[in-house]
Amino acid sequence: MKQRIESLLPPAFLGILGGGQLGRFFTQAAQDLGYKVCVLDPDPLSPAGAIADKHIRADYEEPSALSEMANICQAVSTEFENVPAKTLDYFVSRGLLVSPLSFAVSIAQDRIAEKSFLNTPDHAAGIKSAPYHTLLEEVDLATVDSHLFPGILKTARLGYDGKGQVFVAHSRDLRAAWQAIGNVPAVLEKKLQLAYEISALVVRGRDDEIKLYPLAENQHVGGILHLSLVPAPSITTEIERKINEATIQIVKHLDYVGVLCIEYFVLTDGEIVTNEVAPRPHNSGHYTLDACVTSQFEQQVRALAGLPLGSTELLCPAVMLNLLGDIWPTSTDEVVQPPWHLVLNQPMNKLHLYGKSEPKIGRKMGHITILGKSTQSIMASIQQTITNLGMD
Ligand code: ADP
Ligand code: MG
Repeated sequence: MKQRIESLLPPAFLGILGGGQLGRFFTQAAQDLGYKVCVLDPDPLSPAGAIADKHIRADYEEPSALSEMANICQAVSTEFENVPAKTLDYFVSRGLLVSPLSFAVSIAQDRIAEKSFLNTPDHAAGIKSAPYHTLLEEVDLATVDSHLFPGILKTARLGYDGKGQVFVAHSRDLRAAWQAIGNVPAVLEKKLQLAYEISALVVRGRDDEIKLYPLAENQHVGGILHLSLVPAPSITTEIERKINEATIQIVKHLDYVGVLCIEYFVLTDGEIVTNEVAPRPHNSGHYTLDACVTSQFEQQVRALAGLPLGSTELLCPAVMLNLLGDIWPTSTDEVVQPPWHLVLNQPMNKLHLYGKSEPKIGRKMGHITILGKSTQSIMASIQQTITNLGMD
């Protein structure tokens, strides 16, 4: 029997912490359902703030801003994991519906807590993270086992898109690497031989219903997501089953409500390892906007508001291609746009631009979802778009 739950119907005001592209898609999904949206983001030019019904331009810990948001909104979610736990707790104390809660977010925002959670027996159905060592202070440098080299040193907090990470070939390079990341708490992970990378996207409603999306296979360039392919072409039925089982265990043990993404590595010897958890919609789930019955952002809204979840069914194979600031021409002072007509003249290309005015190297400016009969046929045709945009 399903639990009866409180639900918040349109045109209620929903709040989103963070005004980047994830917040913008949340805003669009909420507005499509008839909700009003209030964005909190200090950036006056934030992509979500530009389209929200209300934009509070303030820091995520500013008491008067939080109070204003609590007065306007009946529920609050977040688009990024680095939101202060205190902020989420404040909204709970003000009686708002909040998802995700600070318990899950504080694990996901700290690689040390995250790894310890993922490696706790039963939490991930027996799947472990890469072997690692925690470095809190200088004395810990001397205690790292040599089998972790070559390794990757990752800051415990605030890393994304490969930032806050240094490759460490040998134990003698560790001290310099730790200095390079600012002598902050970190984990040293063994560098593994990856066969392919998978992300699992899951949503859990307030009534405990859990829905899995099809797994995505991800290709990174320079530590930044480049392509996501769905259905994942390399995966076997057995690996898919194990990853889905682990994902369900993780979402339950985090007592999570909302959209959660878990990154997994599949190694060349077939072993599966957990990588990291994002307590929010994920870049690798953008394909759901065009290829699934319900997008990850609509699910975020539904879970937050206590509505029934929508179907996660894949309507069509899809490949998502990220568009970074690198492809914007830099020859003049004025911002010149890439040749979008050469993207839009392919009828199965779906272009999404995030409304960011300043293209920068490595900055996520938009993405294209290419739909087709199979990921194989899409990959055969995607090269034309990549070449047209000067990405090769
Ligand atoms: P971020 O928070 O920047 O996404 P990740 O930990 O996911 O950080 O690392 C980014 C990418 O670096 C991964 O998607 C993977 O391609 C590579 N990577 C990370 N950790 C390892 C590892 N232990 N072994 C091999 N490759 C790794
Ligand atoms: Mg990652």
